[in-house]
Amino acid sequence: MTAGDPPTLQDVFRARQRIAGVARRTPLVPSSALSARSGRDVRLKLETLQDTGAFKMRGAANAVLGLDAPARARGVVAYSTGNHGRAVAAVAARLGIPATICVSTRTAPAKIAALRGAGCALRVEGASQDEAAAVARRLVERDGLSIVDPIADPAVIAGHGTVGLELLEDWPDLDTVIVPVSGGALIAGIALAVRAACPRCRIVGVSMAEGAAMHASLRAGRPVAVAEAPSLADSLQGGILLDNRHTFRMVRDLVDDLMLVDETAIADTMVHAFAVEGLVIEGAAATPIAALLDPRAALGRRVALVLTGNAVDRRLLARMALDRMPVDDRERAA
Ligand SMILES: *Cc1c(COP(=O)(O)O)cnc(C)c1O
Repeated sequence: MTAGDPPTLQDVFRARQRIAGVARRTPLVPSSALSARSGRDVRLKLETLQDTGAFKMRGAANAVLGLDAPARARGVVAYSTGNHGRAVAAVAARLGIPATICVSTRTAPAKIAALRGAGCALRVEGASQDEAAAVARRLVERDGLSIVDPIADPAVIAGHGTVGLELLEDWPDLDTVIVPVSGGALIAGIALAVRAACPRCRIVGVSMAEGAAMHASLRAGRPVAVAEAPSLADSLQGGILLDNRHTFRMVRDLVDDLMLVDETAIADTMVHAFAVEGLVIEGAAATPIAALLDPRAALGRRVALVLTGNAVDRRLLARMALDRMPVDDRERAA
């Protein structure tokens, strides 16, 4: 696999061997509440249980473990709304590799705080994810660092694809997978694996209603920039890169539907996850639940939701829960 070629299913299997022991194999658990509410068999893929709290460990581990010794000695750099940066920092720290993480000034404070404790050099610069990416690229030019790109790197896409392998192993009868979408590396990797095994499975992406770059790009027929808007799903903000190499085409060709969900639905489902499922999930990870419960969704009977991460300010979630928990949910959780 070179940087120019799209990842293959073989790369996903290779990734699984390479990342074993660094990224965790996560459980797929049935949700009786969501199954009852949606009238389908619903299971949750708990990527929230990864070290650093998000699936990003998979792609980061695959990319960093693929670097040769001289590249490891020079160090790695990443740009990120938070979770990718945390994952690259954690993998690099584990392997004794220097890491620099570039985030924009709009990054959620909880994520910046987590990065400060991660043992990496941190650059908080630029008003958007795209500007943070430009800072990272300058460090590649200047210091010869290897960039672990969360969107363009085929090793990252293949690493994320291991989610798809695990879904198929744990639930060979699944017919629908719902995945949150930002730059598209996660859904592209999952689609690569699931589509190969199950041509008829529905693969559904979901983003927040405002500032969804992949959605706008598919509409336009080419990668386009969108203005970032504030959202509870902050991990889904940012562009897909105007020179997008793989994820735009893979999503266009392999994904059945891209849905948009609004902020109220995201908030409601974060609180549902907390109050009823007993799960702390961030806004991005709540979007598949919101999509499942959206009457416009065209879904099969056996639906896997990828709950991607848990990086939410716990005080914010606690306040949302107190404001929104209906009385019957409080009783059920008690
Ligand atoms: C990065 C991220 C996503 C989106 O993944 P992409 O590969 O950028 O589409 C979804 N949820 C969480 C929690 C994330 O950190």
